[in-house]
Amino acid sequence: MSLFDNALNMIRDRQGLPPLPVPTEAELAARRARKQEEQRTRDEENRRQYQAFLDRAPRYELGDGRYARSEGMLGRLSSGAEADRGSLLHVLPEGERVALCRATHGPRSVGWSEPREEPATCPRCLARLSRMGGRLMEKPS
Ligand SMILES: [Zn+2]
Repeated sequence: MSLFDNALNMIRDRQGLPPLPVPTEAELAARRARKQEEQRTRDEENRRQYQAFLDRAPRYELGDGRYARSEGMLGRLSSGAEADRGSLLHVLPEGERVALCRATHGPRSVGWSEPREEPATCPRCLARLSRMGGRLMEKPS
Protein backbone atom coordinates (compact mmCIF):
# COMPACT_ATOMS: atom_id res chain seq x y z
CA MET A 1 0.00 0.00 0.00
CA SER A 2 1.39 3.39 -1.00
CA LEU A 3 1.95 6.40 1.23
CA PHE A 4 -0.81 8.10 -0.71
CA ASP A 5 -3.28 5.27 0.03
CA ASN A 6 -2.26 5.31 3.70
CA ALA A 7 -2.86 9.06 3.96
CA LEU A 8 -6.14 8.75 2.11
CA ASN A 9 -7.33 6.01 4.43
CA MET A 10 -6.33 8.05 7.52
CA ILE A 11 -8.55 10.86 6.24
CA ARG A 12 -11.35 8.41 5.45
CA ASP A 13 -10.99 6.93 8.94
CA ARG A 14 -11.36 10.39 10.52
CA GLN A 15 -14.48 10.96 8.41
CA GLY A 16 -15.88 7.62 9.57
CA LEU A 17 -15.57 6.07 6.12
CA PRO A 18 -14.35 2.49 5.57
CA PRO A 19 -10.77 2.13 4.23
CA LEU A 20 -10.34 1.68 0.50
CA PRO A 21 -9.73 -1.92 -0.49
CA VAL A 22 -6.06 -2.83 -0.84
CA PRO A 23 -5.34 -3.97 -4.42
CA THR A 24 -4.41 -7.62 -4.68
CA GLU A 25 -1.17 -8.80 -6.28
CA ALA A 26 -3.19 -9.87 -9.33
CA GLU A 27 -4.74 -6.41 -9.63
CA LEU A 28 -1.33 -4.77 -9.29
CA ALA A 29 0.09 -7.12 -11.93
CA ALA A 30 -2.82 -6.32 -14.25
CA ARG A 31 -2.19 -2.60 -13.71
CA ARG A 32 1.50 -3.03 -14.54
CA ALA A 33 0.64 -5.03 -17.66
CA ARG A 34 -1.79 -2.30 -18.76
CA LYS A 35 0.89 0.39 -18.25
CA GLN A 36 3.42 -1.64 -20.26
CA GLU A 37 0.91 -2.13 -23.05
CA GLU A 38 0.20 1.63 -23.12
CA GLN A 39 3.94 2.35 -23.28
CA ARG A 40 4.39 -0.17 -26.09
CA THR A 41 1.54 1.45 -28.02
CA ARG A 42 3.10 4.90 -27.53
CA ASP A 43 6.53 3.65 -28.67
CA GLU A 44 4.98 2.06 -31.76
CA GLU A 45 3.08 5.26 -32.56
CA ASN A 46 6.28 7.32 -32.20
CA ARG A 47 8.13 4.95 -34.51
CA ARG A 48 5.28 5.08 -37.03
CA GLN A 49 5.25 8.88 -36.97
CA TYR A 50 9.04 9.07 -37.34
CA GLN A 51 8.93 6.69 -40.32
CA ALA A 52 6.16 8.80 -41.88
CA PHE A 53 8.35 11.86 -41.35
CA LEU A 54 11.33 10.14 -42.99
CA ASP A 55 9.13 9.20 -45.95
CA ARG A 56 8.22 12.89 -46.41
CA ALA A 57 11.73 14.24 -45.85
CA PRO A 58 14.02 14.64 -48.87
CA ARG A 59 16.45 11.79 -49.55
CA TYR A 60 19.37 11.93 -51.95
CA GLU A 61 20.85 9.14 -53.99
CA LEU A 62 24.57 9.83 -54.27
CA GLY A 63 25.25 7.62 -57.28
CA ASP A 64 27.81 5.49 -55.45
CA GLY A 65 25.43 3.28 -53.52
CA ARG A 66 25.06 5.73 -50.65
CA TYR A 67 22.04 7.77 -49.67
CA ALA A 68 21.90 11.09 -47.87
CA ARG A 69 19.58 13.39 -45.97
CA SER A 70 19.29 17.12 -45.57
CA GLU A 71 20.63 18.08 -42.14
CA GLY A 72 21.71 21.20 -40.31
CA MET A 73 24.45 21.60 -37.75
CA LEU A 74 23.42 21.89 -34.14
CA GLY A 75 25.35 23.74 -31.51
CA ARG A 76 26.90 27.13 -32.08
CA LEU A 77 23.69 27.98 -33.82
CA SER A 78 22.29 29.18 -30.51
CA SER A 79 25.01 31.84 -30.16
CA GLY A 80 24.68 32.93 -33.78
CA ALA A 81 28.47 32.70 -34.04
CA GLU A 82 28.42 30.05 -36.75
CA ALA A 83 29.42 31.48 -40.12
CA ASP A 84 26.13 30.45 -41.67
CA ARG A 85 24.20 30.99 -38.43
CA GLY A 86 23.08 27.40 -38.60
CA SER A 87 20.76 28.10 -41.49
CA LEU A 88 22.53 25.99 -44.12
CA LEU A 89 21.20 22.52 -44.69
CA HIS A 90 23.89 20.15 -45.91
CA VAL A 91 23.74 16.86 -47.81
CA LEU A 92 24.81 14.37 -45.14
CA PRO A 93 25.31 10.73 -46.19
CA GLU A 94 23.26 8.39 -44.00
CA GLY A 95 25.27 6.96 -41.12
CA GLU A 96 28.16 9.38 -41.74
CA ARG A 97 29.38 12.52 -40.01
CA VAL A 98 30.91 14.50 -42.85
CA ALA A 99 28.70 16.35 -45.34
CA LEU A 100 29.45 16.33 -49.08
CA CYS A 101 31.06 19.79 -48.69
CA ARG A 102 33.31 18.31 -45.93
CA ALA A 103 31.47 20.22 -43.21
CA THR A 104 31.50 18.32 -39.95
CA HIS A 105 31.01 19.19 -36.34
CA GLY A 106 33.82 20.48 -34.20
CA PRO A 107 34.37 20.69 -30.45
CA ARG A 108 31.86 23.51 -30.00
CA SER A 109 28.90 22.00 -31.79
CA VAL A 110 26.62 19.26 -30.60
CA GLY A 111 26.41 17.52 -33.94
CA TRP A 112 24.02 17.08 -36.81
CA SER A 113 20.31 17.60 -36.52
CA GLU A 114 17.95 14.80 -37.33
CA PRO A 115 17.01 14.69 -41.03
CA ARG A 116 15.12 17.83 -42.01
CA GLU A 117 11.98 18.19 -44.05
CA GLU A 118 13.45 21.03 -46.13
CA PRO A 119 15.84 20.19 -48.98
CA ALA A 120 19.55 20.89 -48.61
CA THR A 121 20.62 24.49 -49.27
CA CYS A 122 24.42 24.32 -48.98
CA PRO A 123 25.72 25.37 -52.44
CA ARG A 124 28.96 23.39 -52.03
CA CYS A 125 27.07 20.21 -51.07
CA LEU A 126 24.69 20.63 -54.01
CA ALA A 127 27.54 21.27 -56.46
CA ARG A 128 29.34 18.14 -55.26
CA LEU A 129 26.10 16.12 -55.46
CA SER A 130 25.70 17.20 -59.06
CA ARG A 131 29.34 16.36 -59.93
CA MET A 132 28.89 12.89 -58.36
CA GLY A 133 25.84 12.28 -60.53
CA GLY A 134 23.62 12.18 -57.45
CA ARG A 135 20.05 13.39 -57.30
CA LEU A 136 17.13 14.17 -55.06
CA MET A 137 14.94 11.06 -55.04
CA GLU A 138 11.27 11.08 -55.95
CA LYS A 139 8.94 10.75 -52.98
CA PRO A 140 6.91 7.58 -52.91
CA SER A 141 3.32 8.59 -53.62
ZN1 LIG B 1 27.44 21.52 -47.16
